[in-house]
Amino acid sequence: MVTVSATNFPAVNGTPERPSWPGLIEAYRQYLPVTQTTPVVTLLEGNTPLIPVPAIAQIIGKQVRVFVKYDGLNPTGSFKDRGMTMAISKAKEAGAKAVICASTGNTSAAAAAYARRGGMRAFVLIPDGYVALGKLAQALLYGAEVLAIKGNFDQALEIVREMAQSYPVTLVNSVNPYRLEGQKTAAFEIVEVLGNAPDWLCIPVGNAGNITAYWMGFCQYHQDGKCDRLPRMMGFQASGASPLVTGKVVTNPETLATAIRIGNPANWEKAIATQQASLGQFAAVTDEEILDAYRMLASQEGIFCEPASAASVAGLLKVKDQVPPGATVVCVLTGNGLKDPDTAIKHCQNSFKQGIEPEVAAVAQAMGF
Ligand SMILES: *Cc1c(COP(=O)(O)O)cnc(C)c1O
Repeated sequence: MVTVSATNFPAVNGTPERPSWPGLIEAYRQYLPVTQTTPVVTLLEGNTPLIPVPAIAQIIGKQVRVFVKYDGLNPTGSFKDRGMTMAISKAKEAGAKAVICASTGNTSAAAAAYARRGGMRAFVLIPDGYVALGKLAQALLYGAEVLAIKGNFDQALEIVREMAQSYPVTLVNSVNPYRLEGQKTAAFEIVEVLGNAPDWLCIPVGNAGNITAYWMGFCQYHQDGKCDRLPRMMGFQASGASPLVTGKVVTNPETLATAIRIGNPANWEKAIATQQASLGQFAAVTDEEILDAYRMLASQEGIFCEPASAASVAGLLKVKDQVPPGATVVCVLTGNGLKDPDTAIKHCQNSFKQGIEPEVAAVAQAMGF
């Protein structure tokens, strides 16, 4: 297998091409636990856009600035790629032949893509019937060995944690510390674009790996003098799966935002520590509020994210009275809307006219002219 990195990008006409963006390990090497001999397995992930969302800012008013960090534009369509380039590179460095994860979908897609690129087997355990279609399609086509269990994510995670202790497979869920190391680079990118940390960071929370990783990233850049403040970390969960809000494990989590359908977050203590250190907050949003934000992002801002991602914007709108005037707010959009076409079509509140005769007159009539 060929590992593409900035250093071995294929030469064109004798001139070694360098990609305009070398992937996040090369870009942030000095901040990551890699050495010159770590085999970098990359799909040139990271460097995703920070997009202003003026319609949402207008709803809040008070001259706030709101941006979305659109991490659905990573190579497999979610922020999981940031963690996976690190986890898989380190697994390869350690000589692993196979990796395993439990997944609500995006982790399995990312693990499959990076593991296969690195020449490893990828085993993924998913909750039967609760994985969005696009994610399952990805895992299968990337060549993962997909095992659907008659249980939920939390049960799948317990199983893979045990498997990784007894069998020659490396665990690449967000309890793997390299995942968080890779994911913290999203905070670096935000600081670089804004010239400082935002006042608020709004983020959907499932296993709470990402909120922990962002906080690590902001703190590291703050220590390094790259920003002179730290954001309040605002974590949003779906109301049917909100253990960090209620303080209690949820045995049967329910939400249409399947990526955050988690009742017992793997990074529970780290999430609480992040909330406390940042003077942040956890709050719950209903599926209806998630869908409203999901439709608004698409139809008002032109941004198609997956339902779980829209929880960050739904949460911001829910607590908008608390936003300080003039604040800069970043909402993390964790995954691409194309992951879950079923939910989009079912909940779009839009329809299209079918069965129209293939004639200009008929089309014009259907258009209301
Ligand atoms: C994994 C995932 C989340 C949750 O991230 P955690 O690190 O588990 O809190 C949110 N949204 C999407 C789209 C995801 O794939």
